[in-house]
Amino acid sequence: MNRSYLPACPHPKPLRIVSIETSVPTEIMPWLIFVRIRTEDGHEGVGETAYGPGAVTSLIHDWMSERLLGADALAIECHWRFFYERFANFGVRGAELRAISAIDLALWDIMGQVCDQPVYRLLGGPVREAVPVYNSCGNPTYGLRTDGKIGWPGYGSYGEPGPLQDSYNFFHNPVELVTELKEAGYNAMKTWCFDEAAHRDGGMTISNEFLAKAVRPLEKIREAHGDSFEIMIDGHGFFMLPAALRIAEALKPFKPLWLEDVLKMDNIRTLADFRRQCGMPVSASEMLLSRADYLDTLIHQAADYIMVDPTWVGGISESARLAHIAQGFNIPCTMHDCTGPLTVFAGVHVNASVAGCCFQETVRAHIHTFYKDLIDEFLPIADGHIALPTRPGLGVKLNPDLFTDRFDYRKTELPRA
Ligand SMILES: [Mg+2]
Repeated sequence: MNRSYLPACPHPKPLRIVSIETSVPTEIMPWLIFVRIRTEDGHEGVGETAYGPGAVTSLIHDWMSERLLGADALAIECHWRFFYERFANFGVRGAELRAISAIDLALWDIMGQVCDQPVYRLLGGPVREAVPVYNSCGNPTYGLRTDGKIGWPGYGSYGEPGPLQDSYNFFHNPVELVTELKEAGYNAMKTWCFDEAAHRDGGMTISNEFLAKAVRPLEKIREAHGDSFEIMIDGHGFFMLPAALRIAEALKPFKPLWLEDVLKMDNIRTLADFRRQCGMPVSASEMLLSRADYLDTLIHQAADYIMVDPTWVGGISESARLAHIAQGFNIPCTMHDCTGPLTVFAGVHVNASVAGCCFQETVRAHIHTFYKDLIDEFLPIADGHIALPTRPGLGVKLNPDLFTDRFDYRKTELPRA
């Protein structure tokens, strides 16, 4: 018998994919891209990724659709591996891995609906009844320029006075911000106090004068709230080793839960050196984009936590694998968000099914503003935890208006018989 490796329809009765749609919600958040996959029996699954929407759209419609249209929607691993191996010819990372991620989410969404189960149950969960959560202190338009166009990651404005301006309020009203977050059900937050210094000289140096000013909100929070609230610090990968060590020294009195990407993330050996020298918990984050990067990090003992973005690293499939690998090193895995709503749902499914996961990142300034225009219902947050999805599949529906010509919309489908 002639058996091929990674066939598109391995099952004798495949659940055939008949259309693939993409939408870039230009008026709402122009860096996001949504995917909707439909099967011939009427199931539809949705996925998401962020950044480079034009490149991802082109990969999906002009190339990946060649394999997916008419193929079995439930052969998730088969498709994942096929695309991974083809894209390995030119490095995989980047738009290619983000396109794989968006497709992977949509196929898991279909799988869950076919099985009438939330995805986390198909991944072996639940291992917990709710997922620990923290609030990242962005503002509603973090990462956008003042003209509404896409900005640069790590170059978000510090915001302005007003509700949900968590970035602004961290610097101007830090004690009140923590009180408000506690009342909203959070007991941890992530913030970034040093970006401005990096924008001046590429993160090579940081003055003691700037450091003293940057940590003042942390002093006020510890004075008023004691140690009752966990704080994570993100350096957005801006600093070189001497500046990163100075930052770590300045942060020590405030006992942050982790230092995330204070160092630039393009040399794992320097990260391992930073971790040993600073003597504080280090998180290596979503800036790593392949299992090779994460394995290197774990083998070189460069991090106390790894953070994964499920819509950048290869979807739910690869995120769950990475979380399991990290557990083998006794290193907790945390799931990233600062992008779009399906990223959170995907992260919660992985968090709910891998015992070694410890946190889901959320941005309340996004949840209560533009996420509402994109999805039907978010997950409740209370007592420092986010609830598990209850509906089959990813457990969320996208606003159907997204898949219309109102937005940057494209559809590729099988020719009708
Ligand atoms: Mg980060």
